[in-house]
Amino acid sequence: MGLQTMSWTNSKNKALVERAQAVIPRGMYGHQSVALLPDDYPQFFARAEGAHLWDVDGNRYLDFLGGYGPNLFGYGDREIDDAYVAQMRQGDTMTGPAEVMVELAETMVGMVSHADWAMFCKNGTDATTMALMIARNHTRKNTVLLARGAYHGAAPWCTPLKRGVSPGDRAHQVFYDYNDVESLEAAVREAGDDLAAIFAAPIKHDTFIDQELPDPAYARRARELCDAHGALLIVDDVRAGFRLARDSSWSLVGVKPDLSSWGKAIANGHPISALMGAEVAREAAMTIYATGSFWFSAAPMAAGLKTMARIRDTDYLERTEALGQRLRDGLDESAHRHDFALRQTGPAQMPLIRVEDDPTLAKGYFWAQALMKRGVYVHPWHNMFICAAMTDGDIDFAVQAADDAFKLMKAAGPLEAPAQLAFMTQILDH
Ligand code: PMP
Repeated sequence: MGLQTMSWTNSKNKALVERAQAVIPRGMYGHQSVALLPDDYPQFFARAEGAHLWDVDGNRYLDFLGGYGPNLFGYGDREIDDAYVAQMRQGDTMTGPAEVMVELAETMVGMVSHADWAMFCKNGTDATTMALMIARNHTRKNTVLLARGAYHGAAPWCTPLKRGVSPGDRAHQVFYDYNDVESLEAAVREAGDDLAAIFAAPIKHDTFIDQELPDPAYARRARELCDAHGALLIVDDVRAGFRLARDSSWSLVGVKPDLSSWGKAIANGHPISALMGAEVAREAAMTIYATGSFWFSAAPMAAGLKTMARIRDTDYLERTEALGQRLRDGLDESAHRHDFALRQTGPAQMPLIRVEDDPTLAKGYFWAQALMKRGVYVHPWHNMFICAAMTDGDIDFAVQAADDAFKLMKAAGPLEAPAQLAFMTQILDH
């Protein structure tokens, strides 16, 4: 029995991959490259609507990645996109910002309880990098504490691969283990009198390993240590922002950061990110140089404003949580029926799904590929995102596809380790 379903084809994708390899390094780069995903994952897409994606061969997928986070209310959401288009027709990238910049800042400051101000930029990396600079400017100190394995972007100070990075780019960094108070305290001791900031993701959502919710004792200790040393606490809400709360994600554990970085979902897919801060960091924010040619584009801000209204006024959060739980329960039941077990970690609406007893990821890759070929786009080692445009019926469709995939995997017997991961080990080692 093969994995191929009757209707799934990929000839157009293959031809595009070949063309891409001539004019784009490796055909594609970064997190949007499928080089580390199971064989046959499509690289190029033609269309997206609601919770669904179509690849260039016309295969339709229920999409659990949502552009790696931005798709919160559905691709092409009419109301949000109408706001975008209306502003675009009025003026988008102009010589200065539009009124909507102030409206969006006022709205977000009204929603994010720790924040008194907002600055807008394009990518999450812009926001985390500004946070770093503001913390160093505020404290006139250099050392930042980072949780081992956390992702904060693709700039030289934080990119996970060391290629092209100088030791100087990584100077003044001390690492601690997420949720481990002792290791955090040891890192603070190591920083001595040079502590500028503690960075924390709102949840531990590193790739390849189980997700962890924040231990409130760890979050509170990070706050206390920053206060004791005059350092700034930075919560990187780029990925989880507004997925877990209608406020900063650490409002759930009662801890207020000084700075928080936002991106991904804040304009439902339109390109904009934000750095938000408390009064204490305003002066330092005023005196760094931060800008970009497209940072003041008004159309994504209009989309952001509409997205904020939807976040405030709808039950999207409770719905995505319920949909995620329905998926989690359905998958667990199906796995057990076929003598497999899943490790499902993190918040239900940001699920990371791994197959138990799968050190080489062979099972995870097989299962994900079988789901993909049945029209359900999942990721074997990155957390996924439930979209508010999904329905119970969509979730049931995914569970049915997963059931077929488990059946197929049981019939397949022992599986070989995926070659993709050998490639990754090679680049991580350099
Ligand atoms: N921080 C976190 C927690 C992220 O998940 C990401 C993106 N995956 C970033 C920062 C960087 O954002 P961007 O890719 O938009 O630069």
